[in-house]
Amino acid sequence: MADIIQLLPDHVANQIAAGEVVQRPASVVKELLENAIDAKATSIKLVIKDAGKTLVQVIDNGMGMSTTDARLSFERHATSKIRSAEDLFNIHTKGFRGEALASIAAIAHVELKTKTEMLEVGTHIIIEGSKVTSQESVVMPKGTTISVKNLFYNIPARRNFLKSNAVETRHIIDEFHRVALAHPQIEFVMLNNGSSVFNLPSSNIRQRIVNIFGKKTKEKLVPVTEETEIVKVEGFVVKPEYAKKSRGEQFFFVNNRFIKSPYLHYAILSAFEGLVKGGTHPGYFLFLEVNPKSIDINIHPTKTEIKFDDEHSIYAMLRASVKHSLGQFSIAPVLDFKKDSDLDTPYEYDKKSPVTPTIEVDRAFNPFESETKQRSTPSYRKMVSNPSSSTSWEAMYVGLKSEENQLDVASIEFESEEVTGSFFETEDEKPNNLTFQLQNKYIISPIKSGMIVIHQNLAHQRVLYENILKNITVKEAISQQLLFPLRLQFSLVDIEIIKSIQEQLEHTGFGFSTFEKDEIEINGIPVSVKQSEIKNVLDQLISDINNELPEAGFSQNDLLAKSLAKSLAIKTGASLTIEEQEHLIHQLFACKEPTISPTNKPTLMTLDMSDLDKKFN
Ligand code: ADP
Ligand code: MG
Repeated sequence: MADIIQLLPDHVANQIAAGEVVQRPASVVKELLENAIDAKATSIKLVIKDAGKTLVQVIDNGMGMSTTDARLSFERHATSKIRSAEDLFNIHTKGFRGEALASIAAIAHVELKTKTEMLEVGTHIIIEGSKVTSQESVVMPKGTTISVKNLFYNIPARRNFLKSNAVETRHIIDEFHRVALAHPQIEFVMLNNGSSVFNLPSSNIRQRIVNIFGKKTKEKLVPVTEETEIVKVEGFVVKPEYAKKSRGEQFFFVNNRFIKSPYLHYAILSAFEGLVKGGTHPGYFLFLEVNPKSIDINIHPTKTEIKFDDEHSIYAMLRASVKHSLGQFSIAPVLDFKKDSDLDTPYEYDKKSPVTPTIEVDRAFNPFESETKQRSTPSYRKMVSNPSSSTSWEAMYVGLKSEENQLDVASIEFESEEVTGSFFETEDEKPNNLTFQLQNKYIISPIKSGMIVIHQNLAHQRVLYENILKNITVKEAISQQLLFPLRLQFSLVDIEIIKSIQEQLEHTGFGFSTFEKDEIEINGIPVSVKQSEIKNVLDQLISDINNELPEAGFSQNDLLAKSLAKSLAIKTGASLTIEEQEHLIHQLFACKEPTISPTNKPTLMTLDMSDLDKKFN
């Protein structure tokens, strides 16, 4: 048999390698920014068009390249950063594999302009499909500009695999954040489709965090510093009360390189234990410095994971120093022997005789309920005044005469006075009711074949979900105009997310008057939402979007509707009048799919007489 093994041509090998290095435009952003940092730039500008699909450009004022180096830089395994295998154990640069430029040049149109301090003129190279198509001299200042155009132009499958512009832009901003946070002394500018997104002057780390995440961040930060023989820790944690629903602001840097470490993340979580509410995530910006010899950054191609020699000690030390900081800044309860004058008893109280404090007991409180107790909102009551026309579900009730089937209320023992109270109250007004509420959670109603038990929260989610979806597609939601527009602060990434779904939100009744750097102004809100809830509703939405990374179109609307429905639905714990209960049932059965919630849980169950009868046999 003839020999069949061949060496792959370079451009094919490069394309294969590119698959590892470049997954999406954000990967190009990361590689180019890191190269600029390795070139000791003090000012770096990132220019993006169409979420990086059309253009990613990085302009730096670093050391530049000679003409020979400029050509060589696109060869595979061409690097100026290591010379021998030993160097691998002492890496102080971001890159060292010499793969990035070769990979990028294999899957995009690349243009490089570069000049060193010493040379009079610079080099201008154009590369397409790994081939140099043009090389000229160019007059330019010291530094390098690399433009990467039409990413994946020759791999349509990869290009089609890219997510919506909103999602890809978010990935780019995430990378930009990581690099900009790791190097606060370098000036960074980012332009997206011609408009400035970030303008970060050279500063210290605290100022950098504030410049990225908004001025309100300043008062939320607690410094962390600690130094031992194996590791030096510096940075900030976010005060527990500002823990967020989305996991966004969590950053570990090791030797100024952003890393992901579930293990160290857990160290922070355990330091925050008991201080943050369930379902929220503490924020942190922590910079670890270790001996480069004690880590292995080579275990992952995109280099966000590293291996420490002494992981356990770093864990213990990180946990202790975060705990210490939270304690020192009186975030966690600590003993403080210094007398605080604010705590002194004012003298006129000294002679007062003590009064027994009154205790209010919430008898309806159920510690096993997972959802927060909340009364139904007035806005819901408003919606109640418009019951939909009778629907086929009412057939279930046919043959039920209210007099003979009336529940014997007196014989039921209620745990909660609140429930009993509201029951009798409304019963006076409307004696023929066929529903009652159990534990402020379920609505129970007898039907022809037995009885039906409806989960009020899940049922209302279904109702709102279908309504919101309809509004988004039919575009007819009513908006309540705010007399005084609401100004809300968000991080820049979150604002990008809101912008990307602005149109859909407007169809549900939101009105946005201005978008600023880290603030938006809202001048209209859906009729069913209270002004005070808006921030929560949007935060929840952003968090849901972050967790699901929806693609454009249908699924994004679906996610939006699910998220809003979840935020706005009547909560477990809300007591409902008979009228409200009946209206909810009407609305539920007017739905296309009344029996399941938007998140695929049952909204109701029926108990047949035969089921009941079996219980008594
Ligand atoms: P690596 O960064 O792993 O060395 P790259 O493919 O990213 O590999 O870059 C190859 C080489 O090109 C680098 O080692 C460096 O010498 C040079 N280079 C790349 N970008 C720049 C830049 N912005 N300024 C100066 N030199 C650069
Ligand atoms: Mg590199």
